[in-house]
Formats: sequence, C-alpha cells, structure tokens
Amino acid sequence: MRTIINNARIFDGTGSPTRPGSVAIENGRVAAISPDNIAPQAGDIAIDADGKTLMPGMTEAHAHLTWPTSVEKFVPGMFLPPEELALTAARNARILLDHGFTSAYSAGALSKSLEISLAEHINSQGLPGPRLIPSSVEREPPNDSELDPGHVQDHGRGPEATAAFVKDCADIGAKAIKFLISGESALKPGASLELLYTEDELMAAGEQARASDVWLTGHAHAAEAVKLGVKSGFRVLYHCTYADEEALDMLESVKDFIFVAPTIGIVQATLDANPPPHMDMTHMKEDAALVLETQKALVPKLRERGIRLLPGGDYGFPFNPNGRNARDLELWVEHFNYTPSEVLQAATALGGEIMGMGNELGLVKEGYLADLLLVDGDPTEDVRLLQDKTNLHMIMQEGRLYKAPANSQHV
Ligand SMILES: [Zn+2]
Repeated sequence: MRTIINNARIFDGTGSPTRPGSVAIENGRVAAISPDNIAPQAGDIAIDADGKTLMPGMTEAHAHLTWPTSVEKFVPGMFLPPEELALTAARNARILLDHGFTSAYSAGALSKSLEISLAEHINSQGLPGPRLIPSSVEREPPNDSELDPGHVQDHGRGPEATAAFVKDCADIGAKAIKFLISGESALKPGASLELLYTEDELMAAGEQARASDVWLTGHAHAAEAVKLGVKSGFRVLYHCTYADEEALDMLESVKDFIFVAPTIGIVQATLDANPPPHMDMTHMKEDAALVLETQKALVPKLRERGIRLLPGGDYGFPFNPNGRNARDLELWVEHFNYTPSEVLQAATALGGEIMGMGNELGLVKEGYLADLLLVDGDPTEDVRLLQDKTNLHMIMQEGRLYKAPANSQHV
C-alpha cells in the first residue's frame, strides 16, 4: 500500500526552489518522485495536493517539552507536580507535532527520566509527538529566579561528579545531556558572562559522553563558554552570543560535528512580553535587547564560516509558549537576513542532521523517511504561513498520516 500525493509543489529541503511534482510513499519512505502525476493502484491512498506545498517536516533544535506553557495552556511558573508535568510534556509533544514539528532535539527537561519515557511512548506510536532526542535535566548550580528550570536534583562539583552525572543519564536512556556552561543573564544579571563549570569538569563530562555514546548539549553565552564547549566535545551549543574571533575559529574547526542554535524566539518573546504588574521584566528586557543586537551581528559571521545553524527558540516559558516554535523562522528572516528558503532548509535538512539521521531524514528525496507536511500556500514566499496550524493540510510521520487531508481517498 502506497500513499500517492499528486499535483504538489515540492520544497525538497535543500534550499532549491519549489517545483511541481508528485510523490509516492511506501514502507515509511519516499519511494518515488515524479514531475508527472503518479497513477494510484488498488489499495493506495491518493491525495490531490492541488498545488499546495509538500515539504519535509520541521525540527525544533532547542525543544523543552517539559517547560509547561503552550499555546493551548498558560502556566504561570515552571513548577508542576510530577503527574501534571508528565501529562503536560505529553501534551506539548502533541502540540509540536500539530504545528508541523516532526522532530525535536531536546535542550533539557524538568525531570531526569520523563523525556526518556516520553520518547519511548512516541516512538512506539502510543502517543503523538515529534521523534525525540530525549534529554535529562539541565545541569546547573542552583539559582534563585522564579523561572529557573534547575533545582531538580543535587549536583556535585568536580570532574568525578560531572562524569558520574553523564554516565547516570546515559544509563537511563538519555541521548543528549545538557549543561549550562555559562549562566543566563535573563535570570541573573551578568550571569551570561560567568562560567558555571571548570575546564576539568567539562573535559570529564566530554570523556564520559564519548565512552557512553551520548551527546552533550550546552548553554553558552560567554566566549569562554563557547571555547570550553568546543574543547570538551559538545555537539550542540545554544546562543554563543558573545563568541569572539577565537571562539569562532574553534567553532569552525569542528563545523562538521557541531550545531549551533542561536535561540532567538525567547529573546523576541521577552522583548514583546507584557508581564503582569507583580512581575518586573525590566532587566530581562534590557538583556534581551542586547542579545538580539549581538546575535544580529554574530549570525552572519557564523554562516560565513560554514557552521550549521538551526532554528529553535526555547519555547515553553509563560511568555513564549510551546506550539509557537515556527515563529523562529520568521525571526530569522527578519533579524538574520535569511531568505525563507534558507531558513526552511535549516529547519528541515539540517534538522535531519542534528537528529543524527542526515542520510535519511530532512529531505523530500527518494529513500528518505516520509516525515512530510502539505502546506496551504508557499512558505518559501512567506514563512509565516507555518505559524498557523490550520495551513497544515497534512502531517505525515514515517509514511503514517497523523493529519490526513480531507480529500484523501482509499483507491
Ligand atoms: Zn533552553
């Protein structure tokens, strides 16, 4: 049994212009792509795309499914009792998928094991959600902000403690283990320029990650944090805001291994937020304005050096809800001078790569997994279309129709 999608305009994820075409999907993968219509056979599902855009599903590179707030449900803080947290994370997974994100790379969780269970339930098709690289908690020394995602468990200091933490997370099934290499000025003034770990601690974490075959993910604003992240073998670095020439050189030296997500969504959301009177965001807004200006200058330099940059914006905070993830694409066009096609390529083709599946995920290409969207309109003309889930006529994961178009027909 195949699924045939005729009369589409295909954005294949490479950044090439869309072109008219039809696609046959079989056994979870794209089996054929043709410029002409493909004749359905008995048993096939036939979909007339009617000129809509067929594109790869998107990847959220900085996902926080356990950050509670979503476009469906506002949660004032970060704390939820465990049962509520589990259900909320499962709901957020479904919400990301509803919004066209067929993959998500976790940037840390509010529970050490929750995302590992969640990924298992998603992968076994028991719950709807993006294919997920699950993380453990964000490892950081405690602080006193009410938006602090930390305080999850005791964290020891020293290289033995960081290595033991990595091993422990790997043993329970985490794939990406998150460290806050530098602090976060939005939560504590000046903290973005402070290192939270010593070189010895991070090198030990890196060594253990390689031994345990897991990836390290780092929150790194300060130049020295970027350098330490590269040196100790982090595979994903977020922000990189204050990277200097030396940090850029180091990032470039590992460009075939590393991924960077500047994480602009949370920054714009902070600037846009209208907080209730009891919440003073003055400092956060000042910091966000500085980060935005700095990253506008930084991103072109990262691109020039060929570093793989992905959208993903720390969605899940009360003023930056899960489900709004595609807004990052618009922000990249607005702030980073990306064309819609360029940012779509980052969200799709590079998404496959950050998931560790670049040879079979992230493109509309024969042999690739059929994680596909059918979009009303042309997102390569206006990338904002992807922010409205009603524009997604079809959401397919590995050939399965999660959201089937109304006109799909069993032949
Ligand atoms: Zn984050």
